[in-house]
Amino acid sequence: MQTPKVVILGAGYGGLITSRQLEKTLRNGEAQVTLINKHDYHYISTQLHKTGAGTAPDEKITLHIPDLLKRDKIQFKKGTVQGVDFTSKKVQLESGEFIDYDYLLIGLGFDVSTFGIPGVEENAFKIKSFRSTKAIYNHMLRQFAAYKEDLDPSRLTFAVAGAGFTGIEMIGELIEAMPKLCLKYDIPVSATKIINIEASASVLPGFDKEAIEFTESYFKKNGVELMTATKIIECSPTSITLDSGEELPSRTLIWSGGVRGNTLLEKLELPISKGRIIIDKFLRVKGMENVFCIGDAALFMKDDGTPLPPTAQVAIQQAEVCGPNLIASLRGEQLKAFEYHHKGTVASIGNKAAVGKVFGLKISGLFAALMKQVIEARYLFVLGGPGLVIKQFLKIGKPHSELAISKQK
Ligand code: FAD
Ligand code: NAD
Repeated sequence: MQTPKVVILGAGYGGLITSRQLEKTLRNGEAQVTLINKHDYHYISTQLHKTGAGTAPDEKITLHIPDLLKRDKIQFKKGTVQGVDFTSKKVQLESGEFIDYDYLLIGLGFDVSTFGIPGVEENAFKIKSFRSTKAIYNHMLRQFAAYKEDLDPSRLTFAVAGAGFTGIEMIGELIEAMPKLCLKYDIPVSATKIINIEASASVLPGFDKEAIEFTESYFKKNGVELMTATKIIECSPTSITLDSGEELPSRTLIWSGGVRGNTLLEKLELPISKGRIIIDKFLRVKGMENVFCIGDAALFMKDDGTPLPPTAQVAIQQAEVCGPNLIASLRGEQLKAFEYHHKGTVASIGNKAAVGKVFGLKISGLFAALMKQVIEARYLFVLGGPGLVIKQFLKIGKPHSELAISKQK
């Protein structure tokens, strides 16, 4: 009998932690496992806003995937998935190559929802991947440099769409980045403007009142112009149109208006809802026994009929069950039903403040910021043990590098 082939698509939280689970439990020669990812680095997507503002070195946000794997158990393949033929059990890569599988895990993550708002797709910046957020930082540098020449205030007006968790985390980093950028370009901080535009009546819609109040007053204290109950209806390279009819002169709109499943999923002809693949309680694609899907690509319905949110916490917990379930499938054993245990939510507002709720306890300020760092360190610990935590911590002091990633603006 041939060794069964397990193929994992995407080395995000879901794909990587599942790989770690397989490494730990698979017997030698029991399966041939291949992890496929677009790039040979994993980006810590929960910290992408820092790349966008240039407040963390690239080395701290990205990790070389082969270094994270035991290569005798898991093979890494750099490649961009283009499609899957579920009948012949083949994954097609953009390079034209086909990869055979017996068991497949889809962990292709999220895309940003732009809701078809005119100009957003073409002109706004997305917090989606390492490259897309690096483009924000490079664009900001260009705006500072150009401002010295033409003194056009729209160059230093930085707008963030949405005050959900991503939006407020991005604003927090911009607050920290501005003084450093101003010093670098010898421009007064008073020449810069940070605007947060949110369609709902407050920041963090639906979250605790205390967190909302803390965030709004933190923004006010730091000079952020907060526009709630205001919808963006259009965006051009030089302006943002609001539902009031007002046109804001700005050359930087950072879009954090919401997420959906990777757009590639729509092409796969699988059961899909709101851009995410519908999965059963064992984390398999509905109606399929050899195809699993987890993380932001998956739609898992709770008993109350509502879906689990697209978070790293969900992706990690699912991966911890998906690994053993893949092995149980190989061995013809009983699979385990997935149960989600919500531990809490903490959102950073820069390095020194955060808001959240952990094990039912509401927290804010510096203590919450420290808690956020503990959560991030725990992820590194799960991924690579104490060695990786220390290695990443020591990278904090290094300057960020300016990669040649840009978007014409
Ligand atoms: P991803 O992490 O998106 O990984 C998908 C992987 O697939 C990537 O490596 C990508 O390169 C690869 N890929 C995509 N398309 C292809 C292709 N065609 N071919 C090959 N490879 C491909 N959640 C929390 O719980 N806590 C937080 O504090 C938190 N903070 C966040 C902060 C920000 C700024 C953002 C944007 C999100 C945050 N989230 C947070 C949400 C969290 O990041 C996601 O839920 C999580 O990344 C989902 O993990 P995943 O493995 O499903 O997908
Ligand atoms: P979201 O959907 O939570 O928030 C998007 C916000 O954008 C909403 O408040 C919405 O009202 C606003 N919006 C949408 N269209 C708009 C428009 N045209 N004009 C103005 N405002 C508009 O999306 P998100 O913040 O990107 O979060 C995505 C997922 O990632 C969530 O599950 C979230 O919990 C998770 N996440 C978690 C953390 C954390 O735990 N620290 C951090 C970031 C993201």
